[in-house]
Amino acid sequence: MTERDLLGSRSDPTGCGPLPRAAVEPTLATGPSDAGPRTVPNRVVVHYHEVALKRGNRRAFVTQLSDNIGATLRGTGVKRVRSAPGRIVVNLKPEANWPEISRRLQWVCGIANYSLAWRAPRNIDDISALAVAAVHGRRFGSFAIRTKRADKGFPLESPEVSRIVGAAVQGHSGAAVNLKHPELAINIEVLPREAFVSVDRLPGQGGLPVGSSGTVLALLSGGIDSPVAAWRMMRRGCRVELVHFHGAPYQDRSSRDKVVELARLLTRYQLHTRLHLVTFGEIQRQIVTSVPRPYRVVLYRRMMMRIAATLAGRIGAEALVTGESLGQVASQTLANMTTVEAATGLPLLRPLIGMDKAEISAQAEGIGTFEISIQPDQDCCQLFVPKHPTTRMSVSTATQVEQPLAIGAMVRDALDSLQAYEFDFPEQEERERLGAWGRDDNSGSPPHTPRPSGP
Ligand code: ATP
Ligand code: MG
Repeated sequence: MTERDLLGSRSDPTGCGPLPRAAVEPTLATGPSDAGPRTVPNRVVVHYHEVALKRGNRRAFVTQLSDNIGATLRGTGVKRVRSAPGRIVVNLKPEANWPEISRRLQWVCGIANYSLAWRAPRNIDDISALAVAAVHGRRFGSFAIRTKRADKGFPLESPEVSRIVGAAVQGHSGAAVNLKHPELAINIEVLPREAFVSVDRLPGQGGLPVGSSGTVLALLSGGIDSPVAAWRMMRRGCRVELVHFHGAPYQDRSSRDKVVELARLLTRYQLHTRLHLVTFGEIQRQIVTSVPRPYRVVLYRRMMMRIAATLAGRIGAEALVTGESLGQVASQTLANMTTVEAATGLPLLRPLIGMDKAEISAQAEGIGTFEISIQPDQDCCQLFVPKHPTTRMSVSTATQVEQPLAIGAMVRDALDSLQAYEFDFPEQEERERLGAWGRDDNSGSPPHTPRPSGP
């Protein structure tokens, strides 16, 4: 498997993989009857990507991926999700909604490709008959049979299977065999207890199943970058909790409305999301009273880091994530990023660091967050700052100008203001829980934190 496989093809240079909105709607039913067994495809065969490489942990990865697929497809007519050698098989009910299933599978991290499939008994006559049924009624000038034998005990070798099935398909359709550039590729998979025939293999988004890489806390600003950064960590198998800092009481609720929408949308990639909102305006006011203008943005960010790091400790997140990209704005020079990072002892992950805005925007469009991100809002980092902030602030300057600030108390106050929202996919139910994870005593007692400016 090459890096290019993982990051997408050349026609997809952003590495987004397939776009969730892509119209991918193969038909569920095959009509025919005169051409072979009367049958409809009632399985989905899912192939995974890198999961296959994780030898020692493979079972856990496959279980996680199966669970994620099952949960993502809730309500679409799935009977069962099971693992078969080297792939996952989804058994469908007769009423299964294939277009919706296909749409949702594009959101599941860890899938290399998937196809609607016919299940065949393990004999060449049945496999051939199903291949003929699968292509019946379709127009194609050329085709190829691609056979994978996961069971080497099957009496025929792959080329032989392809030859026999190919002859049957050719006899039925009259189409030519073209192994390099076929109009239609027919996949035959022979497993120890069953075989599968499928025609349209669709690309998944790749990566690792969410839940296989631990929990991180992503700083979500409502701009274009940070939702992409959060999604990229999900695609690396992380559960991503989100934290947003808003400028209340000095700014309106627009940034909060945006991050709620973003969190809701991102939930389709990880099934469950917790969004934490921190009231940051008062902290900014205190910084403004004692810190020269050019330094303010870096100091805001250092405070965000401290608050986020404490929150991360409470929720069990092992790293922080930002949407920073080197040189994008004044606060994202090497010097300033170093100074911001020095405020936290936690690893700080920046999945977009080497990407430019065009690449990030293309990915934002691919995952569906772009339209939300470009809505105007009041961003707290714009509060009380000059047009041209410093591009080089050292850690020692930062510690010096922070001297007058009661940092511990500021962090505590901020955490007292916490509000948390939960989102579930596919229910998309949003439940507000005030303060339950932000309390200092961590006692789990009912939250009493007042809500000065609820979203
Ligand atoms: P984004 O980077 O999200 O598109 P932006 O470019 O306006 O928005 P920057 O000023 O580049 O934001 O901020 C860099 C990073 O700092 C963001 O990607 C985000 O991770 C974090 N950040 C900035 N402001 C906030 C905020 N109000 N709440 C949470 N995180 C923030
Ligand atoms: Mg940015």
